[in-house]
Amino acid sequence: MGEGGTPLIRLVNSNSILGVREVYVKFDGANPTGSFKDRGMTVAISIAKYIGVGIVACASTGNTSASMSAYASRAGIKPLIVLPKGRIARGKLVQAILHGAEIVLVKGGFDDALKVIIEASRRGLVYPLNSINPWRIEGQKTVAYEIVDEIGVPDWIVLPVGNAGNISAVWKGLVELKRAGLIDRLPRLVGVQASGAAPLVEMFRRGYRILKPVDNPETIATAIRIGKPVNWVRALRAVRESRGLFIDVSDNDIIGAQKILARHEGIGVEPASAAAIAGVAKLRKEGIIDRDERVVAIATGHALKDPDIILNHYNVRVHEASSIDNALSLIRKITLLNNS
Ligand SMILES: *Cc1c(COP(=O)(O)O)cnc(C)c1O
Repeated sequence: MGEGGTPLIRLVNSNSILGVREVYVKFDGANPTGSFKDRGMTVAISIAKYIGVGIVACASTGNTSASMSAYASRAGIKPLIVLPKGRIARGKLVQAILHGAEIVLVKGGFDDALKVIIEASRRGLVYPLNSINPWRIEGQKTVAYEIVDEIGVPDWIVLPVGNAGNISAVWKGLVELKRAGLIDRLPRLVGVQASGAAPLVEMFRRGYRILKPVDNPETIATAIRIGKPVNWVRALRAVRESRGLFIDVSDNDIIGAQKILARHEGIGVEPASAAAIAGVAKLRKEGIIDRDERVVAIATGHALKDPDIILNHYNVRVHEASSIDNALSLIRKITLLNNS
């Protein structure tokens, strides 16, 4: 349905704020259902259809279920989704309803929902479409092809990390390009987590050999509110092999970065995606990224996915007019202020 081939947008107005001259946003919010999940879902659903699956299922923080529901409908397969109750951004829930998914709500977080899916597929009840499904990763790696195709190999690729499927996929794509002789060097990968849901950052910083899950992950960036990333082994390898790192950013930084992209660049992304931009700013501030290096941040999902975050965290500049004349005088005041 037109997944992939998303715009790579060079930032033009916020470079001095971020401190880096050449930053590109790979806007995967421009995919058909508004997130990068479509890249993997088109492949995985095609396989499900090929092997004759009747019902597909996933646990989701929202975007996987939105994408799966759309692609399953397209393929004539029934979608069933398991969601953590009260933890799904409104735009994403609406998409699952729109595309006719059966919805099971569970108490707890995403990690509990995933347990349900793993057990249901073990019992042969459903075909699982979480990123434990290798076909998802095969589709998602195409974002690396597109970046390299357009600007060659950047110095850094920065992206948000939740269940860590995407960072694993990006690395797989890059390594395969190198193995095929199409590129001769590799970028460094940075996985950005939210401070309240950062098990990989802890692991990386402290040199743990095994993941210590975060029991009650908390962040406004619901797409990365995950305490026990299922793909942690691959993600850690990707970051180590690329000489990259995992970093965390606060919810405040996430909103700040979302605002920078929205108001200086015209790009609307959801909070998890803004974490990547907040990550770029932090890496520059700490001197890890040089101002002359080329950086790509992957904006994984569209701003409309989570309208409540915007309504709750932004000052709404609404001027209520009592009449047409009053509206005109308000506009006169506003133009005077903005021209001075
Ligand atoms: C799924 C998702 C992520 C996290 O990707 P993982 O593969 O789980 O690490 C980040 N941002 C958005 C918008 C997502 O939908």
